[in-house]
Amino acid sequence: MDEFEIIDRYFLRGSYPTGVVVGISDDGAVIENPAGEETVLATDTLVESVHFPVGTNALDLGHKSLAVNLSDLAAMGAVPRWALLNLVLPQADDDWISQFSLGFMSLADEYDVVLIGGDTCRGPLCITVTVVGTLPAGTAITRGGARPGDQIWISGSLGDASIGLGIVQAGVDPADPDEVWLMRRLNAPQPRVTLGCSLRGLASAAIDLSDGLLADLGHILHYSGGLGAVLEVSLLPVSPAALAVCGQRAARSSALAGGDDYELCFTVPRRHEAEIEALEKQQDHQITKIGEVCTDEGIQLTGPDSKHYNVTGAGHLHNWPDGG
Ligand code: ADP
Ligand code: MG
Repeated sequence: MDEFEIIDRYFLRGSYPTGVVVGISDDGAVIENPAGEETVLATDTLVESVHFPVGTNALDLGHKSLAVNLSDLAAMGAVPRWALLNLVLPQADDDWISQFSLGFMSLADEYDVVLIGGDTCRGPLCITVTVVGTLPAGTAITRGGARPGDQIWISGSLGDASIGLGIVQAGVDPADPDEVWLMRRLNAPQPRVTLGCSLRGLASAAIDLSDGLLADLGHILHYSGGLGAVLEVSLLPVSPAALAVCGQRAARSSALAGGDDYELCFTVPRRHEAEIEALEKQQDHQITKIGEVCTDEGIQLTGPDSKHYNVTGAGHLHNWPDGG
């Protein structure tokens, strides 16, 4: 199977919706900008052995490679519209590509995202997706808008994916439904697209949680001019599955420092609190207020057993060996 057969068989659709002037086939895609809207672009790469273990199921990878990108658009408040897919494959394995494309295209269809191009070549397994979203001009939610006194809110539950990764790394197929659920949280995250769009005009800042709450909230505080935060440990949203599998203390530690959750963390001026509470009723997941932005730099934990948790050294950073 060559590059063009792969594209024709798995990624090309019969027709495009309005807005796509030129799709897959040409040297570049051409899209029409909706009037009065701004364009938001984001891209994310998944590398085998770095972002996912060898042998990860192709259906999940197809889903996740798009999901992590839609999560970035959600954190900006953008409506996802178009995607580009760069696939580096060690071999043209029909089963693998068909499962991958099913995972990718199903999630794309769920959010009306149109695949308009990409690149396909041979090499070590690596997937890069670029997404394009739109929003009314001037309404993008950035990391830099938090102010002292703003409330800090979180979607869904935290720490599940890192506990799921521990289960994957243990290398035994779990029979326990809680463990299976935690692995789904790692392998098939649900991007919070609807919530992200609803936060325009309400949230002062937002970020999606890929590196862990402490690290990612730290980015909001940094880009908002060097602020701090106070978090109430007992309010951290941990799932029943996380509690059942590893107990309260480990579940809360994972909620603070574990990566790959793809939930949204956002700050809200107090005057919008009731609107945020009302929003929860329109979502199929919880949203939880966990603390407040303050002027003193750093993240402080409060609550009866907060001393058990560490706020330093958290987060996932990619390091390279020094050259020379
Ligand atoms: P070029 O020679 O300009 O790089 P290609 O021959 O690589 O173009 O690709 C042909 C067409 O197929 C282009 O429109 C490109 O965007 C699209 N394409 C290639 N790989 C993919 C992919 N994995 N998913 C979607 N579209 C793809
Ligand atoms: Mg090419």
